[in-house]
Amino acid sequence: MRPTDDRYDVVVVGGGHNALVAAGYLARAGLSVLLLERLAEVGGAAVSTEPFAGVPARLSRYSYLVSLLPDRIISDLGLAVSLRSRATSSYTPDPRGPGLLVAGEPGGGTAEAFRAVTGSDDEYRRWQRWYGELAGLAEAIAPTLLEPLPSRDELRAAVISATSERLWSRIFERPLAESLEELFTDDLVRGVVATDGLIGTHTSLRSPTLAANRCFLYHVIGNGTGDWRVPVGGMGVVTGELARAAREAGARIVTGAEVARVDVDGRAGEVGYADAGGEHIVGARYVLSGVAPAVLARLRGAAPARAPRGSQLKINVLLRRLPALRDGTDPRLAFAGTFHLNESYRLLETAYADSAAGAVPEVLPGEMYCHSLTDPSILGQGLAERGWQTLTLFGLHLPADLFVADNDALREKLVARYLTALNEYLAEPIESCLARDADGRPYVEARTPLDLEAELGMPGGHIFHGDLDWPYDTEGGDRWGVCTDTANLLLCGSGARRGGGVSGIAGHNAAMALLAEASS
Ligand SMILES: Cc1cc2nc3c(=O)[nH]c(=O)nc-3n(C[C@H](O)[C@H](O)[C@H](O)COP(=O)(O)OP(=O)(O)OC[C@H]3O[C@@H](n4cnc5c(N)ncnc54)[C@H](O)[C@@H]3O)c2cc1C
Repeated sequence: MRPTDDRYDVVVVGGGHNALVAAGYLARAGLSVLLLERLAEVGGAAVSTEPFAGVPARLSRYSYLVSLLPDRIISDLGLAVSLRSRATSSYTPDPRGPGLLVAGEPGGGTAEAFRAVTGSDDEYRRWQRWYGELAGLAEAIAPTLLEPLPSRDELRAAVISATSERLWSRIFERPLAESLEELFTDDLVRGVVATDGLIGTHTSLRSPTLAANRCFLYHVIGNGTGDWRVPVGGMGVVTGELARAAREAGARIVTGAEVARVDVDGRAGEVGYADAGGEHIVGARYVLSGVAPAVLARLRGAAPARAPRGSQLKINVLLRRLPALRDGTDPRLAFAGTFHLNESYRLLETAYADSAAGAVPEVLPGEMYCHSLTDPSILGQGLAERGWQTLTLFGLHLPADLFVADNDALREKLVARYLTALNEYLAEPIESCLARDADGRPYVEARTPLDLEAELGMPGGHIFHGDLDWPYDTEGGDRWGVCTDTANLLLCGSGARRGGGVSGIAGHNAAMALLAEASS
């Protein structure tokens, strides 16, 4: 063994929100914990920032909504986090006429909106039946996510007893497209349902890999309800609370510390890192990896495998006021929920086909949402009172490879194209509503998959560190879904089974696996 600077029970590599959850649980269990984060701040993709110099608007720069974070983690770690439901679930403008406004609560005009868009009450009845069944699915699966992995048969039995054999088959066995085509007749309605299968996942809804089904599943089961809520104060509050809890429990958190090497032999480990003070080696009984599996492989000196590829564009905008909509819908309702832009079922599949063939989609799908309508506290110094709002756009089917030739040029072009696409549905151009600096430059920033890779170390800019896995055991022996090929090296980030999204589940599960191992 080489001389080490220090020795800990656990060294956590990376300081994303999952790593902080793991550090919190382990430090509370009395273990000595060192967490090493390469950036100046912890949180990874779950942070808030003031991106526009001199403007007190604190944006959730990357992730912005919370569904998968279980109440149990919030209460176990004593987090002062408040999650607020949105008044609107979604709004989808329709080139054929009035848009489809789905209220946040039952009633609220949703039935009338379906009737106006589809011409009858049938589609809404089917919608209610579908989401009623999914509520049962969420209640059955959510509690299992913080327990050792069930087998496929165990999960199947739980889902069938809470819902139906047909729902199990629709979610776990047959491409999502088949169910959407059986269940709904309207192209727009099918698209609204389908988008949950495509966030951060580059796939066709018809794909036999069922990648869209897995993505859909995690989007509808969060915390037993599938409700996507706004973290009051922004995503940075969630991370700030996790860091506070970990520190107060005794974990040592070092930022500006880039890990360059991880060596483990099953019984002990060493982690090499560099910070402003130079290069260091620390010893550990266990190493937890909060970085993506592809990053971990590099740190262990393994031959590089093909990294995952992300497929989205994130745009953050500041507005002086919300734009009026062409169909007369109140923008305070339309933008309070998920505003689906060009996300009909047909357009989603066409955009996938374009992008899979190596082209930028001719019609760009994406979804928008105004955080400050639900939580104006992210706007400081009277901005909210003056009518300013934030607007965030998450563009789909834009795989990392498209950006390789000229990342800057394509980023800029796509921002302009998305604003133009939005204008199709507005009564006034969005450009007239953009807040601008003293030189007239609009407050707009965008992140491509390549930007995410450079900033956050997410390989290929994949927001889940890789495509999502089923929440049941497929390997045998990996009780918590966090194992690697070496016993004392565990995954505590999104790359773990049941990781992905702002959930803390991977961090919790790695901590439980480690504590079980340590006490055996
Ligand atoms: C644009 C965008 C929008 C999203 N929107 C949502 C959303 O609204 N809701 C939702 O639930 N999820 C969303 N997600 C997904 C979610 O944010 C991520 O899946 C989740 O935050 C990942 O957390 P993590 O802790 O596992 O890893 P990460 O957040 O990726 O953290 C990993 C950390 O490791 C650090 N690191 C990397 N390499 C090293 C090294 N060598 N040494 C030391 N440190 C290192 C990184 O700097 C980073 O801080 C979004 C993601 C993105 C990018």
